[in-house]
Amino acid sequence: MPTIFSHPAPMLALALAVGSRGIPVPLLLFGMVCTILPDADVLGFRFGISYGNVLGHRGISHSLAFALTAGVAGAIGAPLLRSGRMKAFCVGFFAGVSHTVLDAMTSGGLGVAALWPFDQGRHFLPWRPISVSPIGPRSFFTQRGVEVLLSELRWVWLPCLLAGCPAFAVRHILNRKNRNA
Ligand SMILES: [Zn+2]
Repeated sequence: MPTIFSHPAPMLALALAVGSRGIPVPLLLFGMVCTILPDADVLGFRFGISYGNVLGHRGISHSLAFALTAGVAGAIGAPLLRSGRMKAFCVGFFAGVSHTVLDAMTSGGLGVAALWPFDQGRHFLPWRPISVSPIGPRSFFTQRGVEVLLSELRWVWLPCLLAGCPAFAVRHILNRKNRNA
């Protein structure tokens, strides 16, 4: 997995692109939680659930079905998120899918059970430039942890900034034109 610090990056880029009118703060926070939530499955190690088990790390919680569930949860809770139901669904689904895609681009571990329940297999994308994060907080403070963070800056944060910043600039230019019109 990319680290817990980097999984929210695509959601933050989307929020940067569309602004707080497009994604109100409560909806953004919900989306960020949904980008991190799939990795709660590492708790399974404590209960003896093996990595390769469908309930293990990168199993069910990394499936598109789980992303759909996050979307449905968003739609149900939309009034609390100050959002319409369709938008909240899209944000929850996007958050879940972004997690799955980023993990499928990492260089190690097992792949993601993206197609569960139709396919129990683990999958990677053909292109895997992101250094896989070690599991456990202590590992961040090692040479390997630094390498992983640098890899995420390059392959997660930089593309997200390159996508979000131009959209942010265009939105501001259009807003200014509308105000002056
Ligand atoms: Zn993950």
